[in-house]
Amino acid sequence: MFGTENIGFCAQMKPFFNSIRLWRTVVKNGEIWVQNVIFAGKRESLNQFTMYKAKKCPICNHHTILMHDGFQGYKVGIFFKIYFCDNCITSFSSPKVDATGIYEEIYKNGEKVPGYDRYWYVYNHIKDQKDPLGFLTNSDEDYWGVNEALKQLVTDKKETKILEIGSGLGYLTYALRKEGYNVLGLDISEEAVDRANSNFGDHYICRDLFDFSKENPASYDIVILTEVIEHIDLPIEFIQAIIKLLVKEGAMVMTTPNKSIAPNDIIWDTESPPVHHWWFSENSIGHIADSLSLKLELVDYRGFYRKKPSEYRYGRARRKLERPPILSEDGGLIRVGGPKEQSRLKKFYKSSIASMPKLKSAFLKLKILLGTKTTICSARGTILCAILKRA
Ligand SMILES: [Zn+2]
Repeated sequence: MFGTENIGFCAQMKPFFNSIRLWRTVVKNGEIWVQNVIFAGKRESLNQFTMYKAKKCPICNHHTILMHDGFQGYKVGIFFKIYFCDNCITSFSSPKVDATGIYEEIYKNGEKVPGYDRYWYVYNHIKDQKDPLGFLTNSDEDYWGVNEALKQLVTDKKETKILEIGSGLGYLTYALRKEGYNVLGLDISEEAVDRANSNFGDHYICRDLFDFSKENPASYDIVILTEVIEHIDLPIEFIQAIIKLLVKEGAMVMTTPNKSIAPNDIIWDTESPPVHHWWFSENSIGHIADSLSLKLELVDYRGFYRKKPSEYRYGRARRKLERPPILSEDGGLIRVGGPKEQSRLKKFYKSSIASMPKLKSAFLKLKILLGTKTTICSARGTILCAILKRA
């Protein structure tokens, strides 16, 4: 295997590489070349070979590790490389392909797309709720985090100008308005904005963020961004455009799936690329904040998980190394979401143990004692909520 071929450095080869010591490495043309190695205590004289493409981390500029070369994407027949940066604990997919067609399919199939079905459920049911914001925050870490951040940041609900970017079907902006907040929703999808305006009233506009940011500098006190940043090609530039929208003392509230809670060797446990390009950790957001001279504060989730004990099961994530694709080659739906028939055992669990927070918490601790690969969510959970302000 030693020679001039590009062997790639993938996670599966880690034990092998742990057994050798590099003698001399040279970085040239964006690749790391190993000229000599010490193998099993003996120095081997070798031809140059490329250890791995030294793809730089777009977040912290550190070298990355190729974790998977040929990861099955969201749609059958499209494959990605998955890179991991062990400096800022960020995973990302490559190449970055245009996902517009995939989003069109997701919208077309609406309620049936796994992972997106819950958005439609909320869109269809939130107007029947007496307490729309409570309806959102009781069940979902994203909205719970946003609500906690707003409680901390807003003293005058009418005077504080809030913009929700990526407002989608519009229910968060609706729920916040019902609570008395002064919020406007912004989304790039005309279809989503039309749906939101017709269902919740004229509080939504369809614009590209970069154009909107140029036209409205220093116009908002708070910008909310839930479950958006992991979809964006250039997240640092995107956040920069958001910061431009904020007044001097303004703040950005952002949620995204939290990689921090997963062990580093879990390759990808979030929506498959190109829907999600990124799997960020708290550390990643810290690096982004530093690079833009922003002050970062993370919302503490203990209040949420006390009422709703939850775990991250990484044993299961390991088994599901690759998520099955959602769309077929011609764009049709392979897997169908929506309400599912539950087994009797699951129904019993939901109606008994899971409905009592203290009992569920004890049950989770017992599972860990019994050796289940599980992390109990506490101050940190599977979603992170970051508050970013100018330093
Ligand atoms: Zn990095």
